[in-house]
Amino acid sequence: MAAFGSIFMPRMALATFDNNQWGESKIVPSDSIPMHPGAHVLHYSSTCFEGLKAFRHADGSVHVFRMDQNIKRFSQSSRLLALPDVNEEQVAQMIKDIVAEFASDVPAPPGSMYIRPTHIGTEAIIGKAAAPSLTSMMYVLLSPVGDYFSGGAHALRILLDENGQRCAPHMGMIKSGGNYASALGPIMKAKEDVQADQILFCPNGDVQETGAANFLLIDGDEIITKALDSSFLHGVTRSSILTIAKDLGMTVSERDLTVSELLERAAKPGVEAVLSGTAAVLTSVGTFIHNDKEFKVGSGEPGPIAEKLRKTLNDIQWGNAQDTHNWLTKIV
Ligand SMILES: *Cc1c(COP(=O)(O)O)cnc(C)c1O
Repeated sequence: MAAFGSIFMPRMALATFDNNQWGESKIVPSDSIPMHPGAHVLHYSSTCFEGLKAFRHADGSVHVFRMDQNIKRFSQSSRLLALPDVNEEQVAQMIKDIVAEFASDVPAPPGSMYIRPTHIGTEAIIGKAAAPSLTSMMYVLLSPVGDYFSGGAHALRILLDENGQRCAPHMGMIKSGGNYASALGPIMKAKEDVQADQILFCPNGDVQETGAANFLLIDGDEIITKALDSSFLHGVTRSSILTIAKDLGMTVSERDLTVSELLERAAKPGVEAVLSGTAAVLTSVGTFIHNDKEFKVGSGEPGPIAEKLRKTLNDIQWGNAQDTHNWLTKIV
């Protein structure tokens, strides 16, 4: 099967910012974009993106999940990177237009259509290392994806890293390319040295997140995750799972969590640890690696509460349960 995100629909929605204004968005071929080799993004990483999904329901209708939240975050990322402000209504229309165009290609559950809005600084100028690009391009790519757990749901091995950090602290809440490149060196070293699947970045003992997913600890009726601040990415899945947990009568504790409390709690029977993100919703952590020692989380296998939370969210996305929070936007 093709790797996640390696297949693209042949057209995308695209708009450019020039002379202080956004042009009309167009549907164009998605196999290439015209760009000068001196473009700001290629040298100074003026880029941000989003990841959201469209789902097919049993009656054939197609729905995008929480697009208002992703558009808000896209707009915030653009602003914090000094890219031109996006027009949120235009972005929404671009997403609707391109999903409508490829509505018949949206895979049925557990598959979906992954939507990738992207915004880049295009001004051809290498003299602007310390100044923003005056022109930019935004496009919305589509990539049909299958079942994330098609190879079976195995629990992850996670290295707890108290020394490094994922990215510069003031960049944490921006969904920007450079942050992922910044985390790659440590992640590859952790794979090589201790066969970890991912790193959970915990600078000075403060449990934050992994390279591309938020972290939540489930201890009985309580779900614990770091409260929002500018140091990490504010996941839409994180927020949705916390809302669902409250709906199910669980206690949601958004607060700081230290590595020592994490390891203490993780040793208790029945405790679960999960990563959250759009691609997989929730992935279970089976083992923490810390100072060359390994710590099993609960049974070391995916747990029942994570499974229940994931199913509850999938049921809403897939149209098998009432969308009580109005999270879905119907496209066709
Ligand atoms: C995208 C992302 C997440 C998850 O966000 P969702 O909106 O839930 O997909 C978490 N952390 C990082 C660093 C991310 O890039």
